[in-house]
Amino acid sequence: MTRIPAPDEAAAAPSSPLDNALAQLAAAVRTLGYDEGLHQTLAAPRRELSVSIPLRRDDGAVEVLRGYRVQHNISRGPAKGGVRFSPDVDLDEVRALAMWMSWKCALVDVPYGGAKGGVSIDPRKYSKAELERVTRRYTSEIQPIIGPEVDIPAPDMGTDEQTMAWMMDTYSVNVGHTTLGAVTGKPVSLGGSLGRASATSEGVVHVALAALRDRGIDPQGATAAVQGFGKVGAGTVELLAAAGVRVVAVSDQYGAVRCEDGVDFATLSAHVAETGKVVDCPGTEAMDADELLLSDVDLVVPAAVQGVLTAQNADRVRARVVVEGANGPTTGEADRILNENGVLVAPDILANAGGVIVSYFEWVQANQAYWWTREEVAERLERRMVLAWEAVQAAAREHDLTLREAATVLAVKRVAEAHRTRGLYP
Ligand code: GLU
Repeated sequence: MTRIPAPDEAAAAPSSPLDNALAQLAAAVRTLGYDEGLHQTLAAPRRELSVSIPLRRDDGAVEVLRGYRVQHNISRGPAKGGVRFSPDVDLDEVRALAMWMSWKCALVDVPYGGAKGGVSIDPRKYSKAELERVTRRYTSEIQPIIGPEVDIPAPDMGTDEQTMAWMMDTYSVNVGHTTLGAVTGKPVSLGGSLGRASATSEGVVHVALAALRDRGIDPQGATAAVQGFGKVGAGTVELLAAAGVRVVAVSDQYGAVRCEDGVDFATLSAHVAETGKVVDCPGTEAMDADELLLSDVDLVVPAAVQGVLTAQNADRVRARVVVEGANGPTTGEADRILNENGVLVAPDILANAGGVIVSYFEWVQANQAYWWTREEVAERLERRMVLAWEAVQAAAREHDLTLREAATVLAVKRVAEAHRTRGLYP
C-alpha cells in the first residue's frame, strides 16, 4: 500500500521521485478539498507487477535482471506510459513515473490512465542482441497485464523505436496475430506515427515559446540552456534554434559545451553521431555540466533525468523560465525556491506531454489502420499543447497557484471525477 504523507510531512523537502509525486498529489487534494478516502484512492497504484528477467549474455553466462510495470490509474481509459531501461530503476521510481503519467494524460485530455515500466539495466553495457533478449523476455513477463485495450507501453529513457518494434513483435507472436496498437513509439514502417519521434520536443518548444512570451521575452534572440541531448533534448535544441532562440549551452551525461553565438545544431548532432558525446564539438568550448542549469540565460530546459533542480542549486538559477522536458527534474523544495524567486516553471506533466499526445494519435491510427499526414499530426499536437497551456495558465491565475499546482489540480480533478462518476465497485 502506498504511504500517503500527512499534510505537514508533504510540505517537507521530498527526497525521492515518489515522495515528490505524493507531495504534489497531497497538495492538489488539499486544494480540491477531497477526503482521505479519495486521497488514498488517487495515491495507490491500481496494479503493480514485479518480474525477474533471466538473460543469457553473449558469452553464455546467465544473469537475472529486475523489471516492473505499474498501472497507477485506469479511471479514464487504458493504462499508458513508457518503459525505462536505466540502472536507477526501482519499484518506487516506476510508481512515481506512473502517477505522473495519470496526471499527464488527464491534463492533455487523452483517454488513458497512467502506467510506467522499467528494467534495472544500464543499456550501454549490453550488446544489441542482449537488449533484444531482455526486451522480449520483459514483454512476455508483463504480457498478462498489457494490450491495446489494457495498458500500452511506449519508449522512455534508454529505450527507442527498435525496443518498441521488439515489444510489438513479442506481444503479437504470443497472441498469434499482429497487434499494432499494443505499443506506441514504433518505427513508421511498422505502424508508428509520423511525427512521434520529435513529438516530445515539439511540445516542449510550444510551451517554452508560450512561457517566454508570458514573461514578456521575445523568443527571437532569447537565450537558452538545454540539459540532455537525447530523444527530448536534441529535438528541443533544434526546434528552439529554428524558432530564433539562441541555445548557448548544451549538456549530456558526459559533459557540457557552450557557444555564445548559439550552438550550431547540425554540427553538434554530427559530432554526437560520430563520438557519442557533446564535448569537444567544433565551435564550442567546454563548460562545467553542473553549471549548465545555472547559466545566465532566459530559458533553461532540463531534458535528462529527475531530481536535478534541488534545494542545493535552485537559489542560483538565473533563468526566468524553466521548462521541464524530463519527468520530475525539480524537487519540491526547489520548486518552492524557484517560485519565491519569481522563476516560471512549466511542469513536466504539461511541458513534455507531446510524446504521449502523439502516442495517442499513433494508437488511434493503428487501431483504425488509417494513417494521418505529418501536417495533421503536427497541427493536432500544437492545438492540444496550446489548449493545455492556456487551461493551466488560466487556473493558475484564477486560484493563485503555481503552474505545477494548477496543472496537478486540473489533472487530479479529471481523474477523480471519472472515478466518482463510474462509482466504486462493488
Ligand atoms: N515516456 C513518455 C513520457 O514520459 C511517453 C509515454 C507514452 O507515449 O506513452 O511521457
